[in-house]
Amino acid sequence: MLNRRKFLESAAALGILGILPSKIAKANFRLSKSGNTKGLPIIISTWNHGIAANAESLKILNEGGSVVDAVEKGVMIPEADPNNHSVGLGGFPDRDGHVTLDASIMNSEGNAGSVCFLENIVHPISVARIVMDKTPHVMLSGSGALQFAVENGFKQENLLTPEMKKKWQQWAKDKNYDPKINWENEPNKYHDTIGLLAIDDNAQMAGACTTSGMGGKIRGRVGDSPIIGAGLFVDNEVGSATATGMGELVMKTLGSFLVVEFIRNGMSPQEACEKAVLRIVEKVPEHKKFQIGFIALNKKGEYGAYSLQPGFNFALSADGKNMMIDSPSYF
Ligand code: ASP
Repeated sequence: MLNRRKFLESAAALGILGILPSKIAKANFRLSKSGNTKGLPIIISTWNHGIAANAESLKILNEGGSVVDAVEKGVMIPEADPNNHSVGLGGFPDRDGHVTLDASIMNSEGNAGSVCFLENIVHPISVARIVMDKTPHVMLSGSGALQFAVENGFKQENLLTPEMKKKWQQWAKDKNYDPKINWENEPNKYHDTIGLLAIDDNAQMAGACTTSGMGGKIRGRVGDSPIIGAGLFVDNEVGSATATGMGELVMKTLGSFLVVEFIRNGMSPQEACEKAVLRIVEKVPEHKKFQIGFIALNKKGEYGAYSLQPGFNFALSADGKNMMIDSPSYF
């Protein structure tokens, strides 16, 4: 099992768990002893599309926006990008050729909103935000979520771009859905999510998660991303976590909630992400075939990331830098 031991040894020697040694010099941001939030804000998000999302989030914070505005606006960047085939517009469709979206958001007051199986709306994260802010509910689904979005002024549009329609038609010849490890970051592969966590310079936390889910999925399939506690969890007193990869494995273990509970019980975000991956290894026999990645932050601005398989990376924005970091992994 992995380089995990080697990794822990080198990380421990450097006094921090979890970040590849070459990056550590730039990656250790903590509260100063005086309690000032030196090193904040910090924004962390999944996969390569996290760089552009982080940059937008940081811009919102720098302009005086709230942390929940920052996470929402950040993930709207990949949602609107037709060349990103795993989120929002241009997402890979389900088996029948429909792009169906899942998204969730949590603010620093412990409120949550989510939508699932939503069609024809480019920004599901903003619909989730309105569910959170304007209704007594947490989650709206399918045609009800669409109706709610339209009532709140969202424009309907066809999310299946000509490019993805062509690819889907090609795929649909034999409808061979065979999820593989890390299709996420390979060009023209269709299984991915942006999860983004932020802590502002007052140590207020929020998180957002949005996806078109699994390409070629059975119509109606909903993944972990809109399930509060599975794809995303934020407890402003403790920390936050978000997940990517095969949602079914995360749902079976309520992964993001688990990460935050581990932090509550005294673990660093790095240890907490590792423990949550281990839980999947222990409890879900089919884990070997799939990828899962967690990222997490605690109230002090420390962060962690861990995945089942090699190949997961995340974007970290801190101390004036916005960079990709390879996550350590179980295998
Ligand atoms: N977790 C998402 C889902 O299962 C997809 C992904 O992150 O790759 O819908």
